Amino acid sequence: MSTEAEPNSRTAKNGELLRAAAALLFPSLCLSCGVHPVEEIRTGGVCDTCWKALPEPEPGCLRCGDPLPALDAEVCGRCTIDPPAFRRLRAAAPYRGVAREVLIAFKFRGAAFLAPHLARRMRPRHGEERFDEVVPVPATGLSRLRRDHPAELLAHSVATLIGAPLRARRLTKVRATSRQSGLSAQQRAPNVRGAFAARGPVPPRILLVDDVATSGATARECARALIAAGARDVDVWCFARATREDAIAPLSWRGTAGEKA
Ligand SMILES: [Zn+2]
Ligand SMILES: [Zn+2]
Repeated sequence: MSTEAEPNSRTAKNGELLRAAAALLFPSLCLSCGVHPVEEIRTGGVCDTCWKALPEPEPGCLRCGDPLPALDAEVCGRCTIDPPAFRRLRAAAPYRGVAREVLIAFKFRGAAFLAPHLARRMRPRHGEERFDEVVPVPATGLSRLRRDHPAELLAHSVATLIGAPLRARRLTKVRATSRQSGLSAQQRAPNVRGAFAARGPVPPRILLVDDVATSGATARECARALIAAGARDVDVWCFARATREDAIAPLSWRGTAGEKA
């Protein structure tokens, strides 16, 4: 495992230990339904009923996972006209129901101990691809100042799960961008174009990890930077796939939320 990830993982581990101790003394309620008591260590703070109710991934574009307007189409219009640099973007669940509640707890309520539980559900049920390294989408804006960057926590857990090294600083942000959540679908791609660079040389097979994808514009730009720096294949795993109408954050968090898309 790369030493790059250590400060964050150490913070996460300390947090986990404290929470584990607290959970033994004060059993808590499920982060999703708020009804069932849970044991954080085993279930990540989410009850078994809620985990079972996690919505299934929906059929979509074979490349980017976007919902398809035509039933017989396999690839969306955008991927046909402008194919992404990544091979395929996969998400564990659509961004609704339990998936939304769990992700909000993870991103905005400090439930970092959820990371390994989310990572397990991100791994595709079929397919045993091998990756040379796992790279998180870089933190932007305010989340860069926070130590618990959600994509990096997830990438750390995914790397552990699949036994590949984590390269948390492989991608860097090279210019300022506006918050993606404040932009229309048409504005998102230009906002992040050329915003990322990869420190090379990059090995051939890269797994790019993000917590949630909306337009896929950030994943497209990150993949482009990785390929430009030497990667051959880039796959993207996200926990949730949002549609362009979904608000990524709970209302009270609008000010700092949804910096990626
Ligand atoms: Zn529950
Ligand atoms: Zn597509």
